[in-house]
Amino acid sequence: MTQSPSFRMSDVIVIGGGLAGCATAYYLARDGVSVTVLERGELNTQASGSNAGSLHAQIPHDPFVNKGAAWAAQFAPTVGLLRRSIEEWRGLDALLGEPLEVALKGGLLVATTQRQMAEIAAKAEVERGQGLDVRLLDRAGVRAIAPYLADNVIGGAFCPDEGKANPLAATLAYARAARALGVRIERDMPVTGLVRERDGFAVQTPRGGLRARRVINAAGANAGNVAALLGVKLEVQGFAIQVAVTERVDPFIAHLVYSAGEKLTLKQNGAGSVLIGGGWPARWHPRGHAVTDPDSLARNMAVALAAVPALASLRVVRTWAAVVNGTDDWKPVVGEVPGIPGFYINFFPWMGFTAGPAMARIVASLVQGVAAPFDIDLAPFLIGGTPVPH
Ligand SMILES: Cc1cc2nc3c(=O)[nH]c(=O)nc-3n(C[C@H](O)[C@H](O)[C@H](O)COP(=O)(O)OP(=O)(O)OC[C@H]3O[C@@H](n4cnc5c(N)ncnc54)[C@H](O)[C@@H]3O)c2cc1C
Repeated sequence: MTQSPSFRMSDVIVIGGGLAGCATAYYLARDGVSVTVLERGELNTQASGSNAGSLHAQIPHDPFVNKGAAWAAQFAPTVGLLRRSIEEWRGLDALLGEPLEVALKGGLLVATTQRQMAEIAAKAEVERGQGLDVRLLDRAGVRAIAPYLADNVIGGAFCPDEGKANPLAATLAYARAARALGVRIERDMPVTGLVRERDGFAVQTPRGGLRARRVINAAGANAGNVAALLGVKLEVQGFAIQVAVTERVDPFIAHLVYSAGEKLTLKQNGAGSVLIGGGWPARWHPRGHAVTDPDSLARNMAVALAAVPALASLRVVRTWAAVVNGTDDWKPVVGEVPGIPGFYINFFPWMGFTAGPAMARIVASLVQGVAAPFDIDLAPFLIGGTPVPH
């Protein structure tokens, strides 16, 4: 493999041009680090550009109920990380100089049974322990702030910090800002090989080799395969899930709405469309990409209609399926891989859109060996995985 003359040695090569990769590149470049981003396809075409745009701070209800108290206890510190990331989102339009449609009008988790209310109250207890503002509401309280909800909603929890942003805009805004700071971004450049060298890494691509002192794996659902290039086993996966979007209507849903029954997230975006999802499974096409599952769609719509009856008069204009990066335990995988100095992971499962800005700042500081920018204990998130020898 020959080195293309147009490539210089970078301090850092970032693998992956999603939110994790572009944002990390931006923060590194802002600190004067020379960075090259290698993206195997186009920027923002995988999870970061296909997600539902929810900014989550709370513990997802489904795993809280189904995985139990021990899981909730180990997940709890992630609430602080998400909350901190939403603080970053608040100032992101101004920082990057582009409209990102960040709106933080609060998240509303609603219940139709007493049992669900009890689950919500127990979850709120854990969340408040992490400093999250969560307010339990009775039927009248919910109705007062969300008159669009169904009459059988008996109460819920309101988290004022949550909201939404535009996934089509955020990563590309980071990429443009990174470029303006001198970051080199190469598209159609899949990383196919990684070799450790004395003072860094040789990075192989079909278009030539590059070298860098440090490499960041921000390859999303493909992060496991990228790590395997260095013999590292990461317990990460990709799951096909889907979202539906309605025609545009005047604003009537201010919040990010969740159900404590079946899976649901629902919000109205800046254009007036209602985005309906919640992690319903899509199908894998035999050619290997995700496609919408009609059964999931029907069930997702039923849950949405049960929560917000006015949706019955709206047409769904589009559905899409995409691959979300996930882990079984929902824990992020962050930091320098033990035994492979200079090789870093930036992987936030399931809610990596929300976590993107904070994760990127954290990883950028770890790579530079400086203190993390926030007052957050990183210990629960740092990778302790075992490198597997070649
Ligand atoms: C349908 C859906 C809805 C979601 N909804 C939400 C939500 O509402 N809120 C929320 O917080 N999160 C949500 N998520 C999750 C969130 O989108 C992801 O966690 C996040 O975008 C991950 O960002 P990333 O940059 O790590 O990965 P990606 O955006 O997937 O980017 C990884 C990039 O790496 C590239 N790559 C992979 N392998 C290589 C290689 N070998 N060489 C070079 N490049 C490579 C890929 O092409 C890709 O562009 C959702 C995800 C999906 C799919």
